[in-house]
Formats: sequence, C-alpha cells, structure tokens
Amino acid sequence: MDRSYISKLIKGIWACMANIEEMKIMEVCGTHTQSIAKYGIPSVLPPGIKLLSGPGCPVCVAPASFIDDAVRLMMMDNVIIATFGDMVRVKGTETSLDNSRTKDKKPVVVYSPLEVLEIAENNRDKTVVFLAVGFETTAPAIAAMIRHAEEKAIHNINVLTSIRLMPPILERVLEKHDGELGGMICPGHVAAVMGQEYFRFLPDKHDICSVISGFDAADILGAIYLIVQSKCGDKKPELKNIYKRCVSFNGNEKAKLLMDDVFTAFKGLWRGIGLVSDSALVLKERYMKYDAAYNFNLSPWGHEDAMECSCGDILMGKKTPGECRLFDAACSPTNPYGPCMVSAEGSCSVYYRYRR
Ligand code: SF4
Repeated sequence: MDRSYISKLIKGIWACMANIEEMKIMEVCGTHTQSIAKYGIPSVLPPGIKLLSGPGCPVCVAPASFIDDAVRLMMMDNVIIATFGDMVRVKGTETSLDNSRTKDKKPVVVYSPLEVLEIAENNRDKTVVFLAVGFETTAPAIAAMIRHAEEKAIHNINVLTSIRLMPPILERVLEKHDGELGGMICPGHVAAVMGQEYFRFLPDKHDICSVISGFDAADILGAIYLIVQSKCGDKKPELKNIYKRCVSFNGNEKAKLLMDDVFTAFKGLWRGIGLVSDSALVLKERYMKYDAAYNFNLSPWGHEDAMECSCGDILMGKKTPGECRLFDAACSPTNPYGPCMVSAEGSCSVYYRYRR
C-alpha cells in the first residue's frame, strides 16, 4: 500500500471539505461497506462526510418470502436445496433453512453454481433446487450452469431466483434521498461485468457524481476524493472509473451474452423495500423447465415482508444499524434476526464488528 499516496488523498479530501458542512456519500455495495470498516476509513475523514451503506448485499436483499419458499421446498420429498453458505442462516417470515433442518432434510452448501450440476448428476431421482441470489456479478455463472444443464441433458435442476439488478434500485435510492446524496461509490465488480457505461445514468439523469471503485483503501479514498473535489469545484457531475485494471468501457461481453440468453428483467421484491420494476432477473421462457417458481407453483415475486427488522431502511441508507431497536439486543451475529446481520457484507454485521 502506497502510504504517501493515501496520505495525499486524505489531505486532498480535508482541503476540499473545508467549505462544505456536510456531504452524504453512498457506497452501494456490501464489499465496499466491509472494506470501509476494515480499513478504518471513517476515522481519517472530516466529520462532515457521512458514508451511507446501500442496497448491494445479495443476502440482505433476498425477501423473506424467498426463504419461506426455500424452507417449504426443502421439506418436500425428493428435493435437495443447494445454496451459498450465508443463505442458510437468513430468516424468512418464521425461520431459516438452518433452523428447519432435520436428520434427513438439510441444505447443501455450494461455493459455485457449477457444483449444482454434479449434485444433480449424482441424484437423478431427486430435484436439486439451487437458490440463485446475487447481482449482475453472480448472474453469468448461474446462466452458465443452466446452459451446461441443457447441454448435458440434466433435467433435475431447478433454480429459485432472487437475482437483482443495480440500476432500478439505485433509481429508487435516489428518489428516496431526494437530492441529498452528494455522490455514489459504484461497485467495481458489477462494472467489471457490465462495463463502466452501466452507471452513466447516475450523472447524466440524476446529476450525481459517481465513481466506479475497487475495494482497497486507496481505491475507496480515491473515489471519495473525486466526489468531494467535484463538489467543492462546483463541477458538472461526472462518471469516473478508477478501477480500470478490472473495468472496461463495455465490460465482459461473453458474460453479458450468457445473461441475456438465459434471463430477462422482471419486477422484483426487495427485503423491506417492496417491489421494484425491472429489478429482478428471471428465467426466459425457453428455460422455464428449470424454473422452481413455475414448477412448484410459487408466486414469482413472493409476498411483502412482515418482520420488525429495519433492513429496508438500512439498505436504502435511511437508517444506520444502531438506529434499529433490535441491534445488539434481539439481533446479533450469533443470533441474527434480519439478513443484514448474517452476511459478512451486511451493514448490521459490519457495524456490529467494527462499530463505525
Ligand atoms: Fe435487521 Fe438486525 Fe439489522 Fe435490525 S439489527 S436492521 S433486525 S439485521
């Protein structure tokens, strides 16, 4: 880590903030939230800078009804639930997969969607339901898995999808904040897939300075510096890409083609936020035979949450975890009530560990 470069960035941020009383900057994704806490970034910033966490933690945004469906499916005969690790601890309306496990019924944790192919091949008499969560980052690998299943004629795989898209939820965030955000730190991994232009709408349509950033301390401080510099110089808001080592203008064309072949955008339910138009990826008609919602007659967009958790406000940057009355009382990492306390990238879990 180049200490002198970092110290120049910090001095630059303080200089730019000399005449600005307060600036709210949102880091959109959970990986940034985690890095910001891990590197102690708030401790070197002027007090006027308020960093808000956004809706970019995949586990946190999956609605309670998604977990309810997964628990119901797990209890059915001849169904195997395969999922990424964090999902097993997330509670639905009543319970989680982990708390529902029995001697014979338990979720299988996978590290890659491609492992699901092997599980399905080894259990031809069962249906393997994969809980497909994530954003534009995980969607290509899930699409690849479905394409492989098709090519290898593996028909006992179903996908229960809670894949979400960034632009529609960022539009909702901006609407909620009504001009009070000074800038956005955009997720570098999403941009690596979709290309830098994916976030062009932020300055062009919403007049908000936006920086595509990587995940180390210099990246994040660099993004904050560019945002405050743009504000103090009264410049027209722009989109900047300081993660060029991974993010190109157009992104990963192969990954985008895969996604386009398998998925289409549809309205999606977000935990504590509600339905957002065109914010979810669901399977296209030609892949319907792999769709768990279709095959098991589930509502494709679930039902609204009925929980006491403040995750919705936290994901929108309208509350901090400390403002939730359950924080560190009925909700902690060892006994999470809401999803934001489960994932290492969830705001509540990060806040609990680092007390921002
Ligand atoms: Fe939800 Fe727990 Fe966070 Fe409160 S502290 S918002 S209950 S995850």
